[in-house]
Amino acid sequence: MRISRRDFSRLGAMGLAARALPSSSFAEAPGDGKVGYCVIGLGVIADHFMRAVQQSSNSKITGLVSGHRDKAERIAAQYGVPKSSIYSYEDMDKMRENKTIDAVYVALPNSMHAEYTIRSAKAGKHVLCEKPMSTTVSEAEAMIAACKLMQVKLMIGYRLHYDPLNLKAIKLIRDGAIGTVETINGAFGFNAKPNQWRLNKALAGGGSLFDVGIYVLNASRYLTGEEPVKFTGVVSTIDHDGRFDTMEENVSWTLKFPSGVLATGSSTYGAQMSGYFKVFGSKGNLEMGPVYDYSGVRLRANYEGNSPDAPRVVIDETSQDQDPAQFTREAEHFSECVLKNQTPTSPGEEGLRDMQYIQAIYRAAGVNM
Ligand code: NDP
Repeated sequence: MRISRRDFSRLGAMGLAARALPSSSFAEAPGDGKVGYCVIGLGVIADHFMRAVQQSSNSKITGLVSGHRDKAERIAAQYGVPKSSIYSYEDMDKMRENKTIDAVYVALPNSMHAEYTIRSAKAGKHVLCEKPMSTTVSEAEAMIAACKLMQVKLMIGYRLHYDPLNLKAIKLIRDGAIGTVETINGAFGFNAKPNQWRLNKALAGGGSLFDVGIYVLNASRYLTGEEPVKFTGVVSTIDHDGRFDTMEENVSWTLKFPSGVLATGSSTYGAQMSGYFKVFGSKGNLEMGPVYDYSGVRLRANYEGNSPDAPRVVIDETSQDQDPAQFTREAEHFSECVLKNQTPTSPGEEGLRDMQYIQAIYRAAGVNM
């Protein structure tokens, strides 16, 4: 285990450096072949995840962390979690002694991801953390450093990385089906109801780019397989109805990739916008929409055949996956990484890159993150 001086100073600030040596109870392989998850924050996405785990072959729910004991007890009964494995935010560090918990699923508001990831790592638990990884680049770096230091795995919940149709789109592009990719365009958004944490910058980190625009940004990276090098960004607020007092309503951006591909994206909290992307290449085009939904994801492509006489290829395929299948694939992947000691496809470093690009877009837009 190599810990840099920088890792140490970052962790020192969080009171972690003194605990750098993992205890013998840390991250042992589970006995029954199933990874036991403690879910932290019992909201909407946690419900998808817990149902997904129930359908998985290698994962189970073994602990809960909540600010609402009644709700937690109800859910515990549903999933066969003993009352002794229900924790509050204050005492969740005690899970260190709980051998039935191998990993945590962090399903909290964005600004809480860093603290609860680091505390879980400190308790010797592997961490599957929801997107966006954090609200700042430095938090993301500290999360990676803490998990490295404690020798636990860290994965960010980019569920589309495990979706067969998104993977098919990537393969078609890599195989050159649509020729040289020139531009990508995408968007995602919804009309946000007032009085929720997503509209509170202190809890959300920022506006729609953190929450839904991140899907569009991340897709342009997995579609190109490149990392962007130039950024533009513009923000606006149209609805001055109190919802956007601490953050912007709309964000639009352009990413320039080393190959020259330009990817434009938009996200909003002011309009219902079914998520999509369109990829335009020299031999044809490919699009997905809806692409970020939990089911009914659709891929269409239209491109030249292999020879001048060959007919154009037309693809129109809709995923038969039903919710929560995407989360089952995601949980199974992380559990497999834990069981076989492998690095997840979407590790902390993947989340960190998105945080860096979100910061670059906001900087270009003149907004302080
Ligand atoms: P919810 O508001 O539905 O749930 C968040 C939970 O966090 C609450 O139920 C609560 O659980 C706990 N919590 C602790 N402190 C607070 C606080 N101050 N304010 C509000 N909740 C608090 O949010 P979501 O489930 O929609 O989102 C959670 C995370 O998941 C976010 O990071 C979001 O970006 C991500 N997400 C990912 C999606 C995906 O497809 N991958 C889709 C949707 C969200 P309790 O009552 O048990 O304490």
